[in-house]
Amino acid sequence: MSIVENLNRIKKSIPSDVKVIAVSKTKTFEDILKAYHTGHRDFGENKVQELIIKQSQLPHDIRWHMVGHLQTNKVKYIAPFVSLIHSVDSLRLLKEINKQGIKNNRKLSVLLQVKIALEVTKFGINPHQLESLIHKSHSFEAVKIEGLMGMASFVDDKNQLDKEFGALKYQFSKLKTKHPSMKVLSMGMTQDYQQAITHGSTMVRIGRKIFGERST
Ligand SMILES: *Cc1c(COP(=O)(O)O)cnc(C)c1O
Repeated sequence: MSIVENLNRIKKSIPSDVKVIAVSKTKTFEDILKAYHTGHRDFGENKVQELIIKQSQLPHDIRWHMVGHLQTNKVKYIAPFVSLIHSVDSLRLLKEINKQGIKNNRKLSVLLQVKIALEVTKFGINPHQLESLIHKSHSFEAVKIEGLMGMASFVDDKNQLDKEFGALKYQFSKLKTKHPSMKVLSMGMTQDYQQAITHGSTMVRIGRKIFGERST
């Protein structure tokens, strides 16, 4: 199956208000352009270095999403163009994003990454720290917190995934009542996006199911 067919199939099979981020990490310009020429504009990367090279070489109307762990000292490289940073997991990082937003004279949209998986390797904020982080960021004029992001455990156990996605949806709903600007819930990848959507995901980040398996 081709990249174009994969992408079109996925879009047809999900509700039209769920946004697909095509995660193009390790993939070539050529592969990305195949998706681009279908009219798709939202692409995700997880490494700053790769993201800035692709941004400079590919069409400038692509909306680039930073989905991977972001180091504070690298925010400056993506601040001029990034569309949405999905992976904010500390006040320190948020502060730096604000600083770079001011420097670039743009308001940077971010999601707070919440730790929902049992696995210790997954980054993210503990759910009980969300409210305080949001509170502390009120003075950050160049940051817009648009919602939450989460990565579930890499397991086949549907009950486990129900628990993790359900927990994130619960946090999202709770915050939304207090902070109406929260409208994005980024959860779901190739192996679990359908289940994430049943739990209220508004944004799915899909790589392999569009571009094929990664070799690196
Ligand atoms: C790689 C990646 C994805 C996409 O994963 P696939 O399994 O290829 O769909 C989604 N989110 C993040 C944060 C990623 O790093």
